[in-house]
Amino acid sequence: MVTTFEEYETVDLFADWDSKTQPIINLINLRKWFPVSQQSVLFSQVVAQIKAVDGVKLFLNKGETLGLVGESGCGKSTTARVISKLEEPTEGSVYFKGIDIFQPMTREEELSIKRQLQMVFQDPYSSLNPRRMVLDLIKEPFDIHYPDMAYEEKESRVLEILAKVGLEDYHALRYPHEFSGGQRQRIGIARALAIHPEVILLDEPVSALDVSVQAQILNLLRDLQIDFNLTYMFIAHDLSVIKHVSDRVAVMYLGKIMEMTPTGELFRRTAHPYSVSLLSAIPRPDPRIKMDRIILEGDVPSPINPPSGCPFHPRCYKAQEICSKETPQLKEIEPNHYVSCHFPEI
Ligand code: SF4
Repeated sequence: MVTTFEEYETVDLFADWDSKTQPIINLINLRKWFPVSQQSVLFSQVVAQIKAVDGVKLFLNKGETLGLVGESGCGKSTTARVISKLEEPTEGSVYFKGIDIFQPMTREEELSIKRQLQMVFQDPYSSLNPRRMVLDLIKEPFDIHYPDMAYEEKESRVLEILAKVGLEDYHALRYPHEFSGGQRQRIGIARALAIHPEVILLDEPVSALDVSVQAQILNLLRDLQIDFNLTYMFIAHDLSVIKHVSDRVAVMYLGKIMEMTPTGELFRRTAHPYSVSLLSAIPRPDPRIKMDRIILEGDVPSPINPPSGCPFHPRCYKAQEICSKETPQLKEIEPNHYVSCHFPEI
């Protein structure tokens, strides 16, 4: 049984949102640039911008898992941090249940949105304060969001959530260093889940764990998604994990979405040359299956000075003259299949 917080809720910002026709999260031309400054004797001057997220368009539907995949440094984590309001966007909008979450709002409204958008980080050890007991770590979101709640109720909710993630009551009185990596990730999940969010942004939640523990955490996340009716954005660089957990996949490269489609469709009818290259690198367990691996030439270009036109053109096996001149836009080439490429494979 999942207990609710109805008696504590004071604002309802989302009365007009219709979960059947509108996405729960909608990103429109989202940009997040970080300035690079040069310090002189007297003053500092911005000399460049790191274009971590550079015009991202994507959406999440209620109750689904969207896998966000791409090489290291392509902007996946920054996108999640902006959605969860840990970073301000440079440009563009983030809509949550139809509300622009960066519009001016009251503190109550701000808290109501933050409560519903939680994040789980890759390294559970560095994201948990080592000086605080698990009880205090999981209780902290209640202290922030439900300050009027009685201590006994907070404590009983912490024990309830610990049980949900497969930990025991006595674990509440221990410190993070007393747990294994998998148990620490369970604590991170419990902390994100404590105040019953609608959306959890999972930033590489299993990549720091052993393979056997990865499977346990993935199964736990699946069970919790059903119990709590959660929507996930699951970030990973490993396509085989993404294939296992996602309903739809968005492929990201140098701060932009290259392809977004249901997971089965991505593997059956891959349209973007970058996705084709990524998929060709997945090892097959059957040695009889012949693999035509496409080796990507060169490194990922710097996000300070990304290539003109299509950012993938210096490494693309299909590139033509127009690719370095005109940036392709993300277009729906088939129902629910979005691609940004001048010459998609289908
Ligand atoms: Fe390759 Fe051109 Fe498509 Fe970019 S637009 S992925 S360079 S074919």
